Amino acid sequence: MSRPEARNAQGLQMTYELNAAFDRAARDDDIKVIILAGDGPHFSSGHDLGGDRGRTWRDFPVVGTWAGFDLGGAEGRYAREKEIYLEITERWRNLPKPTIAQVHGKCIAGGLMLAWCCDLIVAASGARFRDPTLEMGVCGVEFFMHPWEVGVRQAKEWLFTSDWLTAEEAKALGMVNRVVADADLASFTLDLAARIARKPAFALKATKEAINHVQDVQGRRNAMMHVFSLHHLCHANNELQWQMPVHPDGLPPKVREAFMKGRADGK
Ligand code: ZN
Repeated sequence: MSRPEARNAQGLQMTYELNAAFDRAARDDDIKVIILAGDGPHFSSGHDLGGDRGRTWRDFPVVGTWAGFDLGGAEGRYAREKEIYLEITERWRNLPKPTIAQVHGKCIAGGLMLAWCCDLIVAASGARFRDPTLEMGVCGVEFFMHPWEVGVRQAKEWLFTSDWLTAEEAKALGMVNRVVADADLASFTLDLAARIARKPAFALKATKEAINHVQDVQGRRNAMMHVFSLHHLCHANNELQWQMPVHPDGLPPKVREAFMKGRADGK
């Protein structure tokens, strides 16, 4: 991800460029392992609430069949988030090759989804993880992996308090595989990828599929679809209460301004 000026915030353009890059990596037989990293001081600030610079879903190669991100009522937002946050993240989670998230700096809200959809997470010792969406009047990010990533009780505390998790805390809870010195992050991740890349490709693919399937027969996907509906009930509730999809108190002033401007511009 290379939007350092926006702290790698995910809008339509980054979503579809990332999707194209993942597809290319998945289809290239010479690529065995995929690393997702971010330029700049932070891995990801989450979803881009500043609009899509006048571009709409019609400007991008939408993957799913719903489309219609700009339809009125709750329909357009549901369609947009279903495509670019829920289903496309699921698609990346199911890539047939091992993926590693290389996380440094802050990883916030939607940024968590980018790390979670990878098979392994390597974090710099200074990395921090936070989902503040509850403060924004929403029950967690769209790709609701929290209970699977940190356990049920810790997921509740993490979301109820909107606190940061340090890299070490995230590792202790099982969300992060390895914590390494900030300066060693890229080389450590590449070495790990190189070790994995020496294994037989099909066995890697089958092992990934097997472990993902175990999580799915435990009900992950089913639970996630239910939470996605709750998430959109929260967005609709915020629209009724505050005329915006999130609780205004939960947005930093600058983000709130950018968001309101984007709205006024019809983005
Ligand atoms: Zn949402």
